[in-house]
Amino acid sequence: MTTDNNALRVDTIGNLIDPKLKPFIKLPESPSEKPHLIGSKCSSCGEYFFPKRAICPNCLKDEKPEDILLDNKGKLYTYCIVKAAPLGFDAPYAIGYVDIPEGLRIFSPLTECDKGKIKIGMDLELIVDKIREDEAGQAVYGYKFKPVSL
Ligand SMILES: [Zn+2]
Repeated sequence: MTTDNNALRVDTIGNLIDPKLKPFIKLPESPSEKPHLIGSKCSSCGEYFFPKRAICPNCLKDEKPEDILLDNKGKLYTYCIVKAAPLGFDAPYAIGYVDIPEGLRIFSPLTECDKGKIKIGMDLELIVDKIREDEAGQAVYGYKFKPVSL
C-alpha cells in the first residue's frame, strides 16, 4: 500500500509541476529517494550544465551531452527577498543562487525568506514545493532549495 500511495503522490505532484520545469526535475519514486535537477555533462570536456544542453557550448564537440541527475545539496551563494510579487506569487519570498558540487550555480526560489534565518554559505537541499498559483487558483509546483537544518 505504501508503494501505491507514493506512486499516487508522485503522479499528483508530477501533474502539478510547471510544464516548463518538468524536463528539468526528477521526482522521487520512493520515500528513500530525493528529487533531483536534471542537468547534462559533456562526454568530451566533462563540463556540467543546467539547464541541460543539446550541444556542449564549452567545447562544441559533444553533440549529445548525457543527461545526469545533479546533486540535490548546495550552498547559498547569494539571495534576494522579493517583497512585491508578480501575480500568483505570495510575497515575501526569497530567490537565490545556489552552488552545487558539480560547479554549477543554480538560480532558484528558496523556502526560507526570514532575513534572520538566511545566511550566505548555508547548506541547502533541493525540494519540490508550491511556487505559485495559476490563473485558476491551482497550485503550480517547481523546485526550491530549503535550509538543511529545517
Ligand atoms: Zn564539452
